[in-house]
Amino acid sequence: MGSSCGKGAPFVLRIAVVGSGPSGVYTAQSLVTQSAVPGLRVDVLDRLPCPYGLVRYGVAPDHEKIKSLQNNLRTVLEDERINFLGHVEIGPGGVSPERLLRLYHAVVYCVGASADRRLGIPGEDLPGSCSATDFVSWYSAHPDAGANGFSLEWLTARSAVVIGAGNVAVDVARILSRGADELRPTDVPHAALGALAASRVREVHMVARRGPSQAKFTTKELRELGSLPGAEAGVDAAELALDPACSDPSALPSAVRRNVEVLRGWATADREPRGVERTLRLRFFLRPVEILERDGRVGGVRFEHTAPDGAGGVRGTGTYEEIEAQLVLRAVGYLGVPLAGLPFDPATGTVPHAAGRVLRDGVPSPGEYVAGWIKRGPTGVIGTNRPCAKETVTSLLEDTEALSRRPVEGEPVDAMRESGLRPVQWRGWLDIERAEAELGRSLGRGPVKIADWDGLLTAALGTREG
Ligand code: NAP
Repeated sequence: MGSSCGKGAPFVLRIAVVGSGPSGVYTAQSLVTQSAVPGLRVDVLDRLPCPYGLVRYGVAPDHEKIKSLQNNLRTVLEDERINFLGHVEIGPGGVSPERLLRLYHAVVYCVGASADRRLGIPGEDLPGSCSATDFVSWYSAHPDAGANGFSLEWLTARSAVVIGAGNVAVDVARILSRGADELRPTDVPHAALGALAASRVREVHMVARRGPSQAKFTTKELRELGSLPGAEAGVDAAELALDPACSDPSALPSAVRRNVEVLRGWATADREPRGVERTLRLRFFLRPVEILERDGRVGGVRFEHTAPDGAGGVRGTGTYEEIEAQLVLRAVGYLGVPLAGLPFDPATGTVPHAAGRVLRDGVPSPGEYVAGWIKRGPTGVIGTNRPCAKETVTSLLEDTEALSRRPVEGEPVDAMRESGLRPVQWRGWLDIERAEAELGRSLGRGPVKIADWDGLLTAALGTREG
């Protein structure tokens, strides 16, 4: 079990990994598998009491196969050289990076990219307009998905616009287009399930500013949109024809060619309508210019038609179109946020580094490393984090000798408690899992996620100290 501290050989190298999503867990795994250091101890810290990061709070509930990756991450966190320490905030109000460096020989930041990009157009903050991240947090039971995020009243919308053509756009378009019965077997929180069951959304428009051959989504995810039981997916043949690559996709890279082939299949006139209650339309070459207001909330989106510029980009055409919608989800990418006490490059939303070593004024900062999205930006699939973590760990292990000479203070968990923190250790997380299974049983469902801080912390800590 990864919960106890102070066991085994004397600690020669004590390492903190900040973040327990895939990049953090793969970093911990690389550390224990690549290192021959005796007495290595890796503490995986997370501000949430639950591990797994975006696998728990980002992967859509109906993607059970990807979610099952949690089982692999669990095996890593149960390694006896690894300790999970949840409910530990790094930064203001918690442990500062400077203090962390006094408690550990080395710290690897795997904190992801938690903010969402904005469009910078009028109307973006109208009620009924929010980031896809807020919607995802809401249906994933993130305990911070509170008052300023997605509001379930917005599901009174009849028409929804999703802006963007990446896999997050596909996720939210699919969840809006699914019936509640399809989501009941998942761990979606009960309140979200009820709200989705009552949803009046019947039309979803997923809108890309460039063409089909520039879309970022992957073919497996695209195909899934075409096989939803209660929604008819469609695309306009005329919009496909605007993309020169669509008329003869044979020369395209295979991933793009497959996307184009799926879309061409949807556009053929001889597809029989299935008479289902929802429609999901993919639109291309439309750039959002304004979110329109009606009766104090979102009423539609005004787009400018674009055309390919011959170099992979688009230019405006000066012609416009409005799509009526009462709900707008912008799915235009994530953004890294600065962590007080760590250097940050606002242009890329990442921490400057050399092969994972954090750079302060261009020079490697002893003991500080990065991996995952905060190192390379919010791109790639979950597996991309493996080689990324490996590179950082290779750098760290090259530095072992110097790192082991850095003086460190006493037991970190004691120090955290003395600072007023109440870390949730592995057994606390197992208690949350048990409470979620129990909640599901009481509702006649499988495990159902607990969606609030109080519920999570009561399950994890009760009255005991972690
Ligand atoms: P993404 O793949 O970068 O897609 C962002 C989309 O937003 C692009 O279509 C982009 O268009 C568009 N966009 C950006 N700025 C815009 C603007 N101002 N106006 C209109 N459109 C704009 O980002 P993501 O969907 O957030 O995904 C992030 C990462 O997570 C990706 O690597 C993704 O594959 C991964 N992910 C994977 C899964 C899965 O495997 N099932 C699920 C979710 C996320 P341009 O191309 O024109 O810039």
